[in-house]
Amino acid sequence: MANKKVETCYACDEVATSREHVPPKCLFPTELGVNLRIGLITVPSCDVHNGRKSDDDEFLLASLAGIIGCNNIGMLHKFTKVDRAIRRSGGRLLGKVLKDQKIKIHELRDGNKFSVAWGKPDLKRLHDCFSLIGKGLYKHKYGKAFDGNVICEVLYVPTTNRGWKGYREFAVAEMSKELSSCKVEGENPEVFQWVLGPEDPFGSSCARLTFYGNLVVYLAFISSRVNMEDFESLFDIAQKTEKPVYIQKDGKRYRIN
Ligand SMILES: [Zn+2]
Repeated sequence: MANKKVETCYACDEVATSREHVPPKCLFPTELGVNLRIGLITVPSCDVHNGRKSDDDEFLLASLAGIIGCNNIGMLHKFTKVDRAIRRSGGRLLGKVLKDQKIKIHELRDGNKFSVAWGKPDLKRLHDCFSLIGKGLYKHKYGKAFDGNVICEVLYVPTTNRGWKGYREFAVAEMSKELSSCKVEGENPEVFQWVLGPEDPFGSSCARLTFYGNLVVYLAFISSRVNMEDFESLFDIAQKTEKPVYIQKDGKRYRIN
């Protein structure tokens, strides 16, 4: 008799106790009269890495839907589901999503007014959410948990650090070149699209996630076989140098300090 295969968690490889949607199901609206929940992806998950057991799913939803740059689907989702969740939480949810918050009232040409919340996004928590989504997609595509670190570049959050801006431009140019021949996936493209590249000989890879049409996040999958310090040192050394430091690649020059 064949043994039933034990399913293991997409994030930690422990024995799975449930399945987890990647990305969270709540990102996909049900109230807009079109089916935006076609072929959602689920992966086996342990209790610790199941987002429904924490409030990470709601945090991610409120961090994405309705922010400047997202498409109509994201905006409509904000005015229905997200606003309800914010009201239900008595404003606590918005406080978690945006630090140092200010509400500004915008007036449209027709005289209608709407309010926009400004503030600093909780990037640390966002990074954790996007890394887990990356690991989920990896498990879905390659049938195994990714062994290593997933680093995020949240492109829709601008950076004011000149060195980091240059470094980010370089990293994104490299990753988009890597991904240019790979298939873009996602059956509800107005909500979510993704592309995950092949593993390199060291087991590293990269991915691009696109939420609500325009909100782009790049993920670098750094295999545990790679020494992370080798990656960080170039940027760190550049910060200690007074003269401009550039990376030159494919006829382009990126200043990284
Ligand atoms: Zn786990």
